[in-house]
Formats: sequence, C-alpha cells, structure tokens
Amino acid sequence: MISGQTPILILKEGTERQQGRNAQKNNIEAAKAIADAVRTTLGPKGMDKMLVDSIGDIVISNDGATILKEMDVDHPTAKMIVEASKSQDTAVGDGTTTVVVLAGELLKQAETLLEQGVHSTIIADGYHLAVVESRKELGELAAKANDDKTLRKIAITALSGKNTGVSAEFLSDLVVKAINAVSEERDGKTVVDTANIKVDKKSGGSASDTTFINGIIIDKERVHSKMPTVIKNAKIALINSALEIKKTEIDAKVQITDPSKIQDFLDQETDTMREMAEKIKKSGANVVLCQKGIDDTVQYYLAKDGIYAARRVKQSDMEKLAKATGAKMVTNLDDITGDVLGNADVVEERKIGDDRMTFVTGCVNPKAVSILIRGGTEHVVDEIERAMNDAIRVVAITKEDGKYLPGGGAIESELAMKLRTYSNSVGGREQLAIEAFAKALEIIPRTLAENSGLDPINTLIKLKSDHEKGNKTFGINMNDASISDMLSLGVFDTYRVKTHAIESAVEVATMILRIDDVIASKKSSAPAGGAPGGMGGMGGMGGMPPY
Ligand code: ADP
Ligand code: MG
Repeated sequence: MISGQTPILILKEGTERQQGRNAQKNNIEAAKAIADAVRTTLGPKGMDKMLVDSIGDIVISNDGATILKEMDVDHPTAKMIVEASKSQDTAVGDGTTTVVVLAGELLKQAETLLEQGVHSTIIADGYHLAVVESRKELGELAAKANDDKTLRKIAITALSGKNTGVSAEFLSDLVVKAINAVSEERDGKTVVDTANIKVDKKSGGSASDTTFINGIIIDKERVHSKMPTVIKNAKIALINSALEIKKTEIDAKVQITDPSKIQDFLDQETDTMREMAEKIKKSGANVVLCQKGIDDTVQYYLAKDGIYAARRVKQSDMEKLAKATGAKMVTNLDDITGDVLGNADVVEERKIGDDRMTFVTGCVNPKAVSILIRGGTEHVVDEIERAMNDAIRVVAITKEDGKYLPGGGAIESELAMKLRTYSNSVGGREQLAIEAFAKALEIIPRTLAENSGLDPINTLIKLKSDHEKGNKTFGINMNDASISDMLSLGVFDTYRVKTHAIESAVEVATMILRIDDVIASKKSSAPAGGAPGGMGGMGGMGGMPPY
C-alpha cells in the first residue's frame, strides 16, 4: 500500500512531538516537579506558600488545592495532576496535597521500573492490583465511631497546620456543633447536607471571635434607621420583587397640563407605595427581606409600622431563609398572607466590625446554621474559611461513614507492609509494581518526618519495625518529633478522604504512565473542562487533552 520511497507525513513539518521513553521521562519529571512544589506543605508542620500574581496580589496558604489553583502551571502532565487534586477537593474536600505527593512518588517509583525494562502497562496493572488490595485492607484497618469526641479529632487533624491564628480545638467545636445541627437520619442512615451550613466571613476583630449561629446571617443591614433593630417572634415575609414603582423600560413622557395635577401625580405614586407597605403590614409580617430594592417611601411607611426590612438579599440566602423559616417566597404583593410568612425567634441587626448584618436565629426548622468567621485581615479570614470548609466536609463525611483511620502516616506504613506481603502472592513483574506502590506510599510518613525536622531514613526504619511488631496505628508524632500511637494521640484521618486520595493518585499516575506520545495539537475545539480521561493509549492521535 505504501508507495516506496516518499515518506508519508501525517503531521505538519515542525510539529512539536515527543515519543516513547522521552515522552514518558518528560511527563514524569513534570509530575515530580509539581509534587516537590507542594511537598513541604504536607502536615501540621508544613510551611506556607506565598503566591504572587502579576499585579502583586498575594495569597498565602498551606492548602494544596489552593496553592495549585493559584499556581500558573503550564505543562500538560502537571495540569493533569492539578486536575486530580481539584477533583479530590470537589469530591471530599481534603487530602489534596496527599494526592499530588503520592502521584509524584508513584511515577518516580515507576521510572525506576521502566529503566529496568518493565513495561508501563505492567506497572499500571500492578498498581491497579495494589489499589484493589488497599481498599480491602483499609476497610479492615478502619476504626468505627462517629461520636462528638471522634469528630472533634477529625476536625482538629484537618485544621492543624492551617494558619488560622486560633486553636484548632476552638474551631473544631464550632464545626462539630454545626454538623450535629444539620445531621439527619434518613432510612436508617445518617445524612449530613453541608449546604445547610453557611460559612460567612467578616474581617476585623480576632479569629477567636468566630462564632456558631443557630440560624442564618445575612450580610445586609436594615434599610431605615427608624426601623427597630430587634424583632422578637419574627414573622418574616420573603419578597423577590422590587418594592418600588416600576420604572418604564422606555422613556415615557407624562404630559401634565395643569400645574395642580403634578401634585396629584406624585400623591398617586406615594399612595401606591403606602399600599405596598400596608399589604405587608396586613399580612402580620414584622420583617421583610427583599431580594430587590425598596423605595425610600416604602421604607418610610414600613419603619412607621415598626417593620424591620433589608433589601438586595442574595438569592442563595433567600432560599436558605425559606427553608429555615418555612416562609414561601412571593413575587406579587397581593399574595402576601399570614400563610406565606416564615417564623424565627429573633431577627436582629448586629454590628460586626464596621458593618451591620442581619441575624435570623431560632428558626422553626433548625437545619440551617451559620459560622461567622472573624480575623484581623482578609488573608486571615480567607485562610480560616478554607480550613473551616475542609473541616466541615471531613467531619460530615465521618459522621456519615462512621469510620476513620489513624493519621500521621500510620495507615500508609501499615498498608505498605501489607502490600509487600500481598505482592509475594502475585509474583511475576506485577509483583515489582506492587512493591513499588508500597514504597511510594511511604512518601507520606517520610514527608511528614522531613517536615517536622526528623531524619527521614532513620524514622522510616523505626516506623517499619514498629509496624512489623504489630503496632498498626503508629505514625509520626509531629508534636514531639517521635513515633507513637496516632489513635491515642488523637490524629485521625478521614476514611473516605484517604481512600479517595490513593485511588485518584493511582488513576492519574497510570494515565500519565500510559502516554508514550505527546503531540502539539491544533487549537482544541473540544469542550473545555472535561476530565482528562480521553488521553492515553498508544499514539494518542487526538493530541493533547483540551485544557
Ligand atoms: P492534605 O492536603 O493532603 O490534607 P495536609 O497538609 O492537611 O495535606 O496534611 C495531611 C497529613 O498530615 C495527613 O497524612 C495527616 O495524617 C497528617 N497530620 C495531620 N495532623 C497531624 C499530626 N498532629 N501529627 C502527625 N500527622 C498529622
Ligand atoms: Mg488536610
């Protein structure tokens, strides 16, 4: 078929392309580089990164996902790792650094095998066998409980090392309170919908002023200074249309021939607006929360009637309020009756820092709670917010699952030992891959040791011998730089986070391993944001994934 001498060019001349081992090597280097960039942040003694953008704005964080999100990553393989970390964050909310560090190490270990002539598909197969075995082992190693004490420790472990400027114990109490408030039993199962927890932040004050509120905070003040600041036994109207006279879309001219008619016209407008306030009052409402604007005249009449009103309340807050207070949102004021009003014990304006906010507390349905984060600067409240969001997710998951794992690298050491035994039963070249996988897992205790200033080699040797003696829950004690029992120390990792992290790391590592051809492609017209699942396989004629 191929006609002799003329070479067939399927790619334009000058197209950038890397093939075979070269492509693999390059990809592995990129993965290792990205892992190295976040390694020093792992664990409570991890360092922070300061990310500076081109206009000088800074983000200071210890959170892997945040750092990677802010980093300007260019290499396609590095981007795949960043994606894996992001999807870990979306799925379980923590363990983002672990995914990256582990994926980097799995590839580093694979590289040694590639150099020994083990084919990448064999390595991938071995890694997959190891994942299946790990899942089984982790299920057996998990401790079972979801009482408050356990949940608090889960929160503390997730919060430790975050630059919150306040004790993890203090914040963990708030998290556990919030989780318990929104936790429900459905069909004999515990379900925690974290969407019912509203995390708000206001810079100013100190981090220790962060509070739990059994209700909803709205970042709006009352519209008129003559309105009461506190309403007890609140009857709340949620209105999602403007309490104003509608301005016509097109410029309209009203011709008034008689000067006395001007007053009539204005009076008529005032009447309409007074009627609006009257309709609200007649329904029995003493609080109005409006998604749109409220005209000065309407404000005046509402204030005169002693009604509390706030305007331009966010849609998402309106929805939460509806759920919590039992109010039905109304668009047409004629629909306002006692039936559509919601209830809360207190609606109150409180001064928070330089701002005033509306607090709706003691709702009929208590399954809507808030945490108001305070802290000296924007950077502090932002970092506390990220840390709290992580903690809320992991505590919710643990409350649902009712199981957890010892942290501090204990579980990785134990798993590595179990996998080495298992690899003997597999044999062949896959055995080598499973051993490499076991070795890669040890990057977690090794890094934790390094980050707490311990000698990594000696620590790992000691840790291994402890596990061989049957001390399954021993890990790196970062408080006093020793090796001790993580369960009695209270360093608890989230079961679902850990299993997900291992699985995601293996998934992305094997995907990268299978690539043996990197070709610069035409500007992609494929939809953006897709999973990089389409990549891989030989040749990869589709070119690079659409990042
Ligand atoms: P990730 O983004 O992966 O969650 P972290 O920086 O939160 O990364 O570090 C998580 C690791 O730190 C886990 O392996 C956890 O067990 C460990 N860790 C957390 N607190 C402690 C502690 N007090 N002592 C030892 N290890 C800890
Ligand atoms: Mg974490």
